[in-house]
Amino acid sequence: MAALCSRFSQISRPFSTAGRLLSSQMSNPLEHATGLEKKELLSRVGGNDNPFDLRVLKRGPGTRDCPNQIPSGFDSRLVGCICEEEATTVQWMWLHQGCPRRCACGHWFQLVYKAPV
Ligand SMILES: [Zn+2]
Repeated sequence: MAALCSRFSQISRPFSTAGRLLSSQMSNPLEHATGLEKKELLSRVGGNDNPFDLRVLKRGPGTRDCPNQIPSGFDSRLVGCICEEEATTVQWMWLHQGCPRRCACGHWFQLVYKAPV
């Protein structure tokens, strides 16, 4: 038994720190991104942290003469209206360019063109 223990104690265990070095030297994700992800990252670097306009917009007066402006780079966009502050559901509707639309709660929405990312 003593001979076995001394034999194991002489075995050296190799180790490497290469993995740690690689993780600390990871490149910028911008260099690996392609397509839409790259456009999004470039927009964020340029100072636009909401390139796809996905944040919740606060409604304005929303009258027929002064509708809520919804930006879109396309001909139509799906919009959700939280009609009342305590509402537990969202009223969804499609908005199309040139056709302002009224929600069931009475607020008007209009699509305005915004250049796509
Ligand atoms: Zn509504």
